Amino acid sequence: MNAIDNKSAIKPVPQFKAFVQAKCPRCRRGDMFANGMYSLSGQNMYKKCPHCDMTYEREPGYFYVAMFVSYAMNVAEMVTFAVLTHMITGSMDPWLYIGVLFGSIIILSPFNFRYSRVMLLYWLTPGLHYRPELSADKRENGK
Ligand SMILES: [Zn+2]
Repeated sequence: MNAIDNKSAIKPVPQFKAFVQAKCPRCRRGDMFANGMYSLSGQNMYKKCPHCDMTYEREPGYFYVAMFVSYAMNVAEMVTFAVLTHMITGSMDPWLYIGVLFGSIIILSPFNFRYSRVMLLYWLTPGLHYRPELSADKRENGK
């Protein structure tokens, strides 16, 4: 009954799950962020993956690119909220739209910050792919 080989320790992690949980894009095991999305101390991103040791910031200033991703997310969200506000209220009052849009930007900014970086590393970084062999349990941990 103890014939469990090393291969069985490797369970491929689905991309969607790893993406939603903001896991490392290479091993899909290590966290990218040290604390919660809405934690009061702000979001701390790990420099390196705690599981496979990959450096998240591929080159100096790499996450500046995430600002463009974040910008695109903001535009998409604002259009969505503006259309929804119009459909729900039918109002033409500009202050209503300004209030709704500014409120949604503020509420969604931690989400945008986090997932712009996740999207950048998952979809927009050439040469960075999931390596299932790295998602195995660490040996020294013995877990
Ligand atoms: Zn990793």
